Amino acid sequence: MKILVPVKRVIDYNVKPRVKADGSGVDLANVKMSMNPFDEIAVEEALRLREKGVATEVIVVSIGEQKSQETLRTGLAMGADRAILIVSETEVEPLGVAKLLAKVVEEEQPGLVILGKQAIDDDSNQTGQMLAALLGRPQGTFASAVEVNGDTVKVTREVDGGSETVSLKMPAIVTTDLRLNEPRYASLPNIMKAKSKPMAQKTPADYGVDVAKRLTTLKVVEPAKRIAGVKVADVDELVAKLKTLGVVA
Ligand code: AMP
Repeated sequence: MKILVPVKRVIDYNVKPRVKADGSGVDLANVKMSMNPFDEIAVEEALRLREKGVATEVIVVSIGEQKSQETLRTGLAMGADRAILIVSETEVEPLGVAKLLAKVVEEEQPGLVILGKQAIDDDSNQTGQMLAALLGRPQGTFASAVEVNGDTVKVTREVDGGSETVSLKMPAIVTTDLRLNEPRYASLPNIMKAKSKPMAQKTPADYGVDVAKRLTTLKVVEPAKRIAGVKVADVDELVAKLKTLGVVA
Protein backbone atom coordinates (compact mmCIF):
# COMPACT_ATOMS: atom_id res chain seq x y z
CA MET A 1 0.00 0.00 0.00
CA LYS A 2 1.18 3.50 -0.86
CA ILE A 3 0.72 6.45 1.49
CA LEU A 4 0.55 9.96 0.08
CA VAL A 5 1.54 12.83 2.39
CA PRO A 6 0.88 16.41 1.24
CA VAL A 7 3.40 18.80 2.83
CA LYS A 8 3.25 22.58 2.73
CA ARG A 9 6.09 25.10 3.00
CA VAL A 10 5.03 27.65 5.59
CA ILE A 11 6.51 30.36 7.80
CA ASP A 12 8.50 28.62 10.57
CA TYR A 13 6.45 28.25 13.74
CA ASN A 14 9.16 29.99 15.82
CA VAL A 15 8.99 33.16 13.72
CA LYS A 16 6.73 35.98 14.86
CA PRO A 17 4.82 36.99 11.70
CA ARG A 18 4.96 40.64 10.63
CA VAL A 19 2.06 42.11 8.72
CA LYS A 20 2.98 44.06 5.55
CA ALA A 21 2.61 47.83 5.90
CA ASP A 22 -0.30 47.89 3.41
CA GLY A 23 -2.19 45.17 5.33
CA SER A 24 -2.29 42.87 2.30
CA GLY A 25 -0.73 39.88 4.06
CA VAL A 26 2.21 38.59 6.07
CA ASP A 27 5.68 39.78 5.11
CA LEU A 28 7.66 36.70 4.03
CA ALA A 29 10.82 38.52 2.86
CA ASN A 30 13.90 36.95 4.51
CA VAL A 31 11.75 34.89 6.85
CA LYS A 32 12.66 31.32 7.81
CA MET A 33 10.31 28.82 6.16
CA SER A 34 9.79 25.17 7.21
CA MET A 35 7.53 22.21 6.70
CA ASN A 36 4.11 22.78 8.29
CA PRO A 37 4.40 21.12 11.76
CA PHE A 38 1.22 19.03 11.31
CA ASP A 39 2.68 17.72 8.03
CA GLU A 40 5.85 16.58 9.82
CA ILE A 41 3.55 14.55 12.06
CA ALA A 42 1.84 13.16 8.95
CA VAL A 43 5.18 12.13 7.40
CA GLU A 44 6.21 10.50 10.71
CA GLU A 45 2.97 8.50 10.90
CA ALA A 46 3.36 7.32 7.30
CA LEU A 47 6.96 6.24 7.97
CA ARG A 48 5.89 4.33 11.10
CA LEU A 49 3.23 2.51 9.06
CA ARG A 50 5.88 1.61 6.47
CA GLU A 51 8.23 0.43 9.22
CA LYS A 52 5.44 -1.79 10.61
CA GLY A 53 5.10 -3.36 7.16
CA VAL A 54 1.62 -1.86 6.62
CA ALA A 55 2.77 0.48 3.84
CA THR A 56 5.30 -0.16 1.10
CA GLU A 57 5.93 3.36 -0.16
CA VAL A 58 5.63 6.89 1.22
CA ILE A 59 5.24 9.70 -1.33
CA VAL A 60 5.43 13.36 -0.31
CA VAL A 61 3.75 15.97 -2.50
CA SER A 62 3.81 19.75 -2.33
CA ILE A 63 2.06 22.48 -4.26
CA GLY A 64 3.95 25.74 -4.25
CA GLU A 65 6.92 27.68 -5.51
CA GLN A 66 10.19 26.05 -6.59
CA LYS A 67 11.52 26.61 -3.07
CA SER A 68 9.05 23.96 -1.86
CA GLN A 69 11.70 21.52 -3.10
CA GLU A 70 13.44 22.16 0.26
CA THR A 71 10.31 21.07 2.12
CA LEU A 72 10.06 17.92 0.02
CA ARG A 73 13.77 17.18 0.62
CA THR A 74 13.06 17.42 4.36
CA GLY A 75 10.34 14.79 3.92
CA LEU A 76 12.74 12.62 1.91
CA ALA A 77 15.45 13.07 4.56
CA MET A 78 12.98 11.93 7.23
CA GLY A 79 12.55 8.77 5.16
CA ALA A 80 9.92 9.25 2.42
CA ASP A 81 10.68 7.32 -0.78
CA ARG A 82 9.93 9.91 -3.46
CA ALA A 83 8.48 13.35 -4.00
CA ILE A 84 6.20 15.23 -6.37
CA LEU A 85 6.36 19.01 -6.69
CA ILE A 86 3.46 20.77 -8.42
CA VAL A 87 4.91 24.16 -9.18
CA SER A 88 2.85 27.30 -8.79
CA GLU A 89 4.62 30.57 -8.11
CA THR A 90 1.32 32.09 -6.97
CA GLU A 91 -0.50 30.87 -3.85
CA VAL A 92 -3.01 28.08 -4.42
CA GLU A 93 -6.12 28.10 -2.21
CA PRO A 94 -7.25 24.94 -0.34
CA LEU A 95 -9.84 24.02 -3.01
CA GLY A 96 -7.19 24.22 -5.75
CA VAL A 97 -4.80 22.17 -3.61
CA ALA A 98 -7.51 19.57 -2.95
CA LYS A 99 -8.33 19.31 -6.69
CA LEU A 100 -4.65 18.79 -7.54
CA LEU A 101 -4.26 16.21 -4.77
CA ALA A 102 -7.35 14.39 -6.08
CA LYS A 103 -5.58 14.06 -9.46
CA VAL A 104 -2.42 12.74 -7.79
CA VAL A 105 -4.57 10.25 -5.87
CA GLU A 106 -6.19 9.06 -9.13
CA GLU A 107 -2.71 8.53 -10.58
CA GLU A 108 -1.00 6.95 -7.56
CA GLN A 109 -3.96 5.14 -5.91
CA PRO A 110 -2.66 5.40 -2.32
CA GLY A 111 -4.50 3.42 0.37
CA LEU A 112 -4.14 6.38 2.72
CA VAL A 113 -3.62 10.09 2.31
CA ILE A 114 -2.34 11.61 5.56
CA LEU A 115 -2.49 15.42 5.69
CA GLY A 116 -1.97 17.92 8.47
CA LYS A 117 -5.19 19.10 10.11
CA GLN A 118 -4.27 22.65 9.15
CA ALA A 119 -1.51 24.73 7.65
CA ILE A 120 -0.23 27.20 10.25
CA ASP A 121 -0.03 30.03 7.70
CA ASP A 122 -3.63 30.20 6.47
CA ASP A 123 -5.20 28.16 9.34
CA SER A 124 -7.80 27.01 6.81
CA ASN A 125 -8.38 23.46 8.08
CA GLN A 126 -10.11 22.66 4.77
CA THR A 127 -7.86 20.71 2.42
CA GLY A 128 -8.25 17.20 3.87
CA GLN A 129 -12.01 17.54 4.14
CA MET A 130 -12.32 18.91 0.59
CA LEU A 131 -10.10 16.12 -0.76
CA ALA A 132 -12.26 13.46 0.93
CA ALA A 133 -15.38 15.07 -0.55
CA LEU A 134 -13.92 15.33 -4.07
CA LEU A 135 -12.89 11.68 -3.98
CA GLY A 136 -15.99 10.43 -2.14
CA ARG A 137 -13.69 8.75 0.41
CA PRO A 138 -14.10 8.37 4.18
CA GLN A 139 -12.20 10.82 6.38
CA GLY A 140 -10.83 10.71 9.92
CA THR A 141 -9.82 14.22 10.94
CA PHE A 142 -7.75 15.45 13.95
CA ALA A 143 -6.18 12.01 14.49
CA SER A 144 -4.38 11.30 17.77
CA ALA A 145 -4.00 7.57 16.97
CA VAL A 146 -4.06 5.61 13.70
CA GLU A 147 -4.23 1.84 13.47
CA VAL A 148 -4.48 -0.08 10.22
CA ASN A 149 -6.09 -3.53 10.21
CA GLY A 150 -6.51 -5.21 6.84
CA ASP A 151 -8.56 -2.85 4.70
CA THR A 152 -9.79 -0.68 7.56
CA VAL A 153 -8.15 2.10 9.52
CA LYS A 154 -9.15 2.98 13.08
CA VAL A 155 -8.71 6.67 13.79
CA THR A 156 -8.94 8.14 17.29
CA ARG A 157 -10.06 11.75 16.91
CA GLU A 158 -9.50 14.67 19.24
CA VAL A 159 -12.92 16.13 19.99
CA ASP A 160 -14.08 18.66 22.59
CA GLY A 161 -13.43 17.25 26.04
CA GLY A 162 -12.39 13.77 24.93
CA SER A 163 -11.81 11.49 22.00
CA GLU A 164 -13.88 9.63 19.44
CA THR A 165 -12.74 6.48 17.64
CA VAL A 166 -13.99 5.80 14.13
CA SER A 167 -13.36 2.95 11.73
CA LEU A 168 -12.87 3.83 8.05
CA LYS A 169 -12.78 1.55 5.07
CA MET A 170 -9.66 2.23 3.02
CA PRO A 171 -8.81 3.99 0.75
CA ALA A 172 -9.30 6.84 3.22
CA ILE A 173 -8.16 10.32 4.19
CA VAL A 174 -6.67 11.09 7.61
CA THR A 175 -5.63 14.45 9.05
CA THR A 176 -3.19 14.69 11.95
CA ASP A 177 -3.48 16.41 15.32
CA LEU A 178 -0.59 17.41 17.56
CA ARG A 179 -0.65 14.40 19.88
CA LEU A 180 -0.42 11.73 17.17
CA ASN A 181 3.37 11.33 17.43
CA GLU A 182 6.67 13.14 17.82
CA PRO A 183 8.32 13.51 14.41
CA ARG A 184 11.90 12.27 14.02
CA TYR A 185 14.83 14.47 13.09
CA ALA A 186 16.57 13.67 9.83
CA SER A 187 20.09 12.29 10.42
CA LEU A 188 23.00 13.67 8.40
CA PRO A 189 23.42 10.46 6.33
CA ASN A 190 19.70 10.55 5.54
CA ILE A 191 19.92 14.22 4.50
CA MET A 192 22.69 13.21 2.08
CA LYS A 193 20.70 10.20 0.82
CA ALA A 194 17.64 12.40 0.25
CA LYS A 195 19.51 14.40 -2.40
CA SER A 196 19.42 11.44 -4.79
CA LYS A 197 15.81 10.36 -4.16
CA PRO A 198 13.41 10.98 -7.08
CA MET A 199 11.46 14.26 -7.25
CA ALA A 200 9.00 14.68 -10.12
CA GLN A 201 8.02 18.18 -11.26
CA LYS A 202 4.55 18.99 -12.56
CA THR A 203 2.34 22.02 -13.06
CA PRO A 204 -1.38 22.50 -12.36
CA ALA A 205 -1.87 22.57 -16.18
CA ASP A 206 -0.45 19.01 -16.43
CA TYR A 207 -3.44 17.91 -14.36
CA GLY A 208 -5.91 20.22 -16.14
CA VAL A 209 -6.78 21.94 -12.85
CA ASP A 210 -7.78 25.60 -12.73
CA VAL A 211 -6.15 27.12 -9.65
CA ALA A 212 -7.42 30.67 -10.17
CA LYS A 213 -8.09 32.46 -6.89
CA ARG A 214 -11.66 32.57 -5.63
CA LEU A 215 -10.97 34.60 -2.51
CA THR A 216 -9.85 38.19 -2.13
CA THR A 217 -8.03 39.13 1.05
CA LEU A 218 -9.52 42.40 2.23
CA LYS A 219 -7.09 43.05 5.06
CA VAL A 220 -4.75 41.41 7.52
CA VAL A 221 -4.14 42.98 10.93
CA GLU A 222 -1.89 42.08 13.84
CA PRO A 223 -3.56 40.98 17.09
CA ALA A 224 -4.56 43.89 19.35
CA LYS A 225 -1.81 44.80 21.82
CA ARG A 226 -2.50 43.65 25.38
CA ILE A 227 -2.96 46.50 27.82
CA ALA A 228 -0.51 46.54 30.72
CA GLY A 229 -1.66 44.99 34.01
CA VAL A 230 -2.12 46.96 37.26
CA LYS A 231 -1.69 45.91 40.86
CA VAL A 232 -4.72 46.28 43.14
CA ALA A 233 -4.63 46.55 46.91
CA ASP A 234 -7.61 44.33 47.74
CA VAL A 235 -10.67 42.51 46.43
CA ASP A 236 -12.89 45.61 46.66
CA GLU A 237 -10.53 47.55 44.39
CA LEU A 238 -10.36 44.58 41.99
CA VAL A 239 -14.18 44.39 41.74
CA ALA A 240 -14.40 48.18 41.25
CA LYS A 241 -11.83 48.00 38.42
CA LEU A 242 -13.64 45.09 36.74
CA LYS A 243 -16.88 47.09 36.91
CA THR A 244 -15.29 50.12 35.24
CA LEU A 245 -13.92 47.83 32.51
CA GLY A 246 -17.36 46.31 32.06
CA VAL A 247 -16.10 42.77 32.87
CA VAL A 248 -18.63 42.40 35.71
CA ALA A 249 -21.91 44.22 36.21
P1 AMP B 1 -5.21 23.87 5.17
O1 AMP B 1 -6.52 23.32 4.74
O2 AMP B 1 -4.66 24.94 4.25
O3 AMP B 1 -5.22 24.35 6.62
O4 AMP B 1 -4.14 22.68 5.08
C1 AMP B 1 -4.37 21.40 5.63
C2 AMP B 1 -3.33 20.41 5.12
O5 AMP B 1 -3.45 20.29 3.70
C3 AMP B 1 -1.87 20.77 5.36
O6 AMP B 1 -1.46 20.40 6.66
C4 AMP B 1 -1.17 19.96 4.27
O7 AMP B 1 -1.09 18.57 4.64
C5 AMP B 1 -2.17 20.06 3.11
N1 AMP B 1 -1.84 21.21 2.25
C6 AMP B 1 -2.41 22.45 2.23
N2 AMP B 1 -1.83 23.24 1.31
C7 AMP B 1 -0.86 22.50 0.71
C8 AMP B 1 0.10 22.72 -0.33
N3 AMP B 1 0.19 23.91 -0.96
N4 AMP B 1 0.92 21.70 -0.68
C9 AMP B 1 0.84 20.51 -0.07
N5 AMP B 1 -0.03 20.23 0.92
C10 AMP B 1 -0.88 21.19 1.30
